[in-house]
Amino acid sequence: MSGTAIGTRAFGHYIDGKWGRAESGPTFETRNPATGEPVATYARGTAADVDRAVAAAKAAFAKWRLVPAPKRGEILFRAAQLLAERKEEFAREMTEEMGKVLLEARGDVQEGIDMAFYMGGEGRRLFGQQVPAELPNKWAMAVRKPLGVCGMITPWNFPLAIPTWKIMPALVAGNTIVFKPASLTPLLAVRLTQIFEEAGLPAGVLNLVTGTGAEVGDAILAHPDIALISFTGSTETGDHVAGEAARTRKRVSLELGGKNAIIVMDDADLDLALDGIVWSAFGTSGQRCTAASRVIVHRAVERALTDRLAERVGKLRLGNGLTDGVEIGPVISRAQLERINSYMAIGREEGAELVLGGRIADDGDLARGHFHEPTIFGGAKATMRVAQEEIFGPVTTLIPVDSFAEAIEVANGVQYGLSAAIYTADVNRAFRAMQDIDTGILYVNAGTIGAEIQLPFGGTKATGNGHREAGQAALDVVTEWQSIYVDYSGRLQRAQIDD
Ligand code: NAD
Repeated sequence: MSGTAIGTRAFGHYIDGKWGRAESGPTFETRNPATGEPVATYARGTAADVDRAVAAAKAAFAKWRLVPAPKRGEILFRAAQLLAERKEEFAREMTEEMGKVLLEARGDVQEGIDMAFYMGGEGRRLFGQQVPAELPNKWAMAVRKPLGVCGMITPWNFPLAIPTWKIMPALVAGNTIVFKPASLTPLLAVRLTQIFEEAGLPAGVLNLVTGTGAEVGDAILAHPDIALISFTGSTETGDHVAGEAARTRKRVSLELGGKNAIIVMDDADLDLALDGIVWSAFGTSGQRCTAASRVIVHRAVERALTDRLAERVGKLRLGNGLTDGVEIGPVISRAQLERINSYMAIGREEGAELVLGGRIADDGDLARGHFHEPTIFGGAKATMRVAQEEIFGPVTTLIPVDSFAEAIEVANGVQYGLSAAIYTADVNRAFRAMQDIDTGILYVNAGTIGAEIQLPFGGTKATGNGHREAGQAALDVVTEWQSIYVDYSGRLQRAQIDD
């Protein structure tokens, strides 16, 4: 973070429908992880900025909650349309600031468009429950009510998609928002906010405060007028979030880390499995919460799979995600690059075989950015750190097993429970996997990434605290149930007592 010269792309906070000026206080800058070039400058927020944003959101809530939900949905539809029109421009900006290859950046924007359309439709649903009452001439139903001001804190790896998972359901349900994006990638958060402004969202309903976790994030966690914290990030930060938010009894939804496994059984279609592993382990340079950082392989096919995987991955082209033909972009930062690289020694010292890669990639132009060679560890034991810890880089670890039962045990033998996959031709094994694997997301004959927005997204164990984003489940996070009884009998009727 530094207060360097302000370039053309400088953004202040967006509070109560007005853009502040970045120049009016401390700032920070982002840099392209592929080239090291500056991307944009942002205001560095403080607790005072959070106070202003919460006050604006609280005042706006009084009106927004009463806007008919179909009308709120129409604003989401307009936002979806505008996002679709700018898809290419936004994808390029995302690649510049975050580094993922353009094809994937387009997918990230598309996910935001899908979520905006899907949740826009909720404006005409938001289904409640209407049930029979046990007494005559009495009506019983439950309706969803908004919570109030929601604090949304997001990570850098899906700069548009993850904010939309949080913001779209919250808005359609009638909540107002204070939004803090990751300080490494605020550009798409700015763009999304501009889109809502253009789509006609009333002032104060969505407020953007940029800055660090310690300054802006902690102020959001502590603020007594915020009802919900929706957080996506690391398990370590998530634990801090949960602890701090408990002091003011906030609802907290956590989407945290993963150590996702692909199981490849002896009867699997190996070509199909290879496609799934390459895409799931090395897409987004392994920086997806659902990345396949473990491959649990039946010993009968271990050698063949290891050799063929090394051959495929060895051909992947590293580089700037805006360059045609590049398949793996940089990792997000120098610190993350060094952290990933530290696992090379950890894996070797524990006795895993380094099958491919293992180095920071710094040939030619790559030296300007943060690139790591795609890396495969083979012959690992399930207890090794490279098989247990989230590395969040282009690294996967192959763990041989002797049976289906052992594969399931190894798949479940980590602290996380986000995504898992099994490749098998045996329908009985597929159903056993569905029954016995303890994750929030499971794929049969497909890799661990590629969730669609109309199903619940999230995980078990240390991946979260029981909530889900996306699908109908997202509405449970951002609404409160109100059960309503209307007695039209004209007399006192006592539930559980009168016949
Ligand atoms: P991170 O935990 O470092 O940061 C996430 C967000 O929290 C950022 O906006 C950051 O500024 C903020 N933050 C940091 N300290 C804070 C504090 N003290 N108080 C409040 N906010 C604070 O995570 P990251 O490095 O940005 O993202 C990578 C992690 O996110 C990985 O562990 C990945 O698995 C996880 N992730 C999970 C999902 C999911 O849905 N399960 C999706 C994407 C990423």
